[in-house]
Amino acid sequence: MNKTCIQCGKEFEITESEIAFFEEKGLELPKRCKDCRKQNKKNKVKRYRDRKRAANAVKSDQDKKGNGKMENTTKTEEKGAAKQNAQKSRVATDLHTFQADLESDCKTYQQKGFIAELIDNIKRGLKLGSKK
Ligand SMILES: [Zn+2]
Repeated sequence: MNKTCIQCGKEFEITESEIAFFEEKGLELPKRCKDCRKQNKKNKVKRYRDRKRAANAVKSDQDKKGNGKMENTTKTEEKGAAKQNAQKSRVATDLHTFQADLESDCKTYQQKGFIAELIDNIKRGLKLGSKK
C-alpha cells in the first residue's frame, strides 16, 4: 500500500505485514514515512536530553543556593550529574573570566611595560584555575 507522508510529502510504502501488525494492535496506519518517523524519534530523544540538561542546570542552581540539600539520599546519581554540570560551567566561567582579566591586564601591562607582573599574574591565575 502506498501512502503520502504528511510531513515531507514523499510517497512511502506500507507492507502487508505492517498493515496486519497495525490492524492487529488496533493502531492507525503510520502517516509519516520511515525517514520522518526516524527523524522525529531522534528529535524526541534530543528534546528529552535538552529538557534533562535544563533540569540539571536548574538543580545545580538550587544546589548553589542551598535548596537541594534534602535530596542527597534518593537522588545521589542525578545529583552527581548535576554537580558535574555545575562544575563544568564553573570551570568555563573561570576560564572566561581569567581570559577577560588576562586580556585587560595585557593591555595595561603593554602600556606600562610591567611584564614581570603579568607573568606573576598568569602564574596566580593558573594556580587558581587548577585548584577548582
Ligand atoms: Zn516523510
